[in-house]
Amino acid sequence: VARNKLLDNLNTNSSAPLNLLLALKKSASPVAWALLHAVSLEAEKQNAPIYVVGGFVRDLLLGSPNLDLDLVVEGDAIRLGRVLVKRVGGRLLPHQAFGTAVWSLVGDQAAILRRLHVPRKKTIAAQVPEFIDLISARRESYTHSGALPDVVFSDIHEDQYRRDFTINTLALRLDGPAAGQLLDPWRGLSDVHRGLLRTLHAQSFSDDPTRMLRMLRLAGRLGFKIEASTLKQLKSYLHRLEAISGERIYKELMLVLLEENRVAILKEMQRLGVLSAINPNLEFSSSAAQSLKRAAMPTKNWEIEDFEISDLRFVLWFMCLPPQIANAVSDRLRLPLPLRRAALGAAKLQPELRVIAKLAPSAVVAQLEKELPLALYALFLNVSNGTAAKTLERYVTKWRHVRSRSDGNTLRKKGLKPGPAYSKILTRLRAAWLDGEIKNAKQERALLEKLVDEHR
Ligand code: ATP
Repeated sequence: VARNKLLDNLNTNSSAPLNLLLALKKSASPVAWALLHAVSLEAEKQNAPIYVVGGFVRDLLLGSPNLDLDLVVEGDAIRLGRVLVKRVGGRLLPHQAFGTAVWSLVGDQAAILRRLHVPRKKTIAAQVPEFIDLISARRESYTHSGALPDVVFSDIHEDQYRRDFTINTLALRLDGPAAGQLLDPWRGLSDVHRGLLRTLHAQSFSDDPTRMLRMLRLAGRLGFKIEASTLKQLKSYLHRLEAISGERIYKELMLVLLEENRVAILKEMQRLGVLSAINPNLEFSSSAAQSLKRAAMPTKNWEIEDFEISDLRFVLWFMCLPPQIANAVSDRLRLPLPLRRAALGAAKLQPELRVIAKLAPSAVVAQLEKELPLALYALFLNVSNGTAAKTLERYVTKWRHVRSRSDGNTLRKKGLKPGPAYSKILTRLRAAWLDGEIKNAKQERALLEKLVDEHR
């Protein structure tokens, strides 16, 4: 773990409250600092204590401050948000039922920087966060395991208690004379220091089993260990994952696939039985690990639209499962349809590719045209056979674009009645171009005459 001086210089054993205001000012970007300052002034006016919480404080202590600002206010977050939009800019997306709001800062950067009195430079503009979460401090209770929680407004202490791990409970006060004070009732700072992930209570994974996935993702990202009793809790609640909806599991696994250490995280999930608890057929084999390491962005030639790198990584993983199992697992995770089609297509085509690569171009086109570009690209990354890779590349860059010059109009002008013969003739003409049987317009016309005669 890359630890900075800040964490090493803190005396975590002292009984005096820590003050991190200076550290925050030094480590946060000028924009983040100005935003936090503006927020704290408004909160003070509303007499509403406000804290920055969770991942931001954790990462600040670890020396890698991020732009993901979660602010908890002991008051009305929506009211605060409305004033901030007036003073600073952006847009408010309130969620009345939860008393939360997303303060969106997209698209208004120049004006926002001006109002924050931050000098406008290209590099600084790029540091304006896209949005900030404004949360009214709340308590959550779970009617049954894995359910979404009931919510009641409360204070910061109870808000900290609803969180997943001690290292994510840290709250840094922003307003008033106590600004900079770290609220750490669960000794999260000491766990950050020791590199430990620990739940707040023994029912945590029962309340929300997706926390098990979050924990392994964080452990893999930060290089943290899981504290012994937390590991025991994980083992005893693994079976609860079975009841969690496919959508929620899919979302968590997508976040894993976006991590730099994704392969190590998935290996750990496999080792601890997390994947098989989600579905007995779900596994992360060593060939899947190899496959995932190959994920790289496609070039324009592949024409893959609306594409996220996590989509490709899902396909690279699931194509290593036997097709029937890939199908069952896709069902379980409610994988979006295009992803499921791409994963299954790639899984089915993979063992056939060596044979397909030996066929004439027209036969290759007939086989590959049925598949989504994402499936073909995943196959391309994954094949070790040079001829097969070349065939895929030729199909994508050249063969799939080949068309005969004649079309339906040409056939009608020749007096042929519209019907199934049209597609037969045009397919045959295209195949003749693809396979080098014809090479120019004159040769196409000659073949066309012959085919039209046959179908008259
Ligand atoms: P990341 O860097 O992955 O965004 P993060 O810790 O900021 O990590 P978020 O998903 O942005 O994570 O959540 C923000 C905070 O909300 C967390 O720090 C944690 O305190 C809390 N949180 C998120 N999900 C849960 C959960 N399932 N149960 C309890 N607390 C949660």
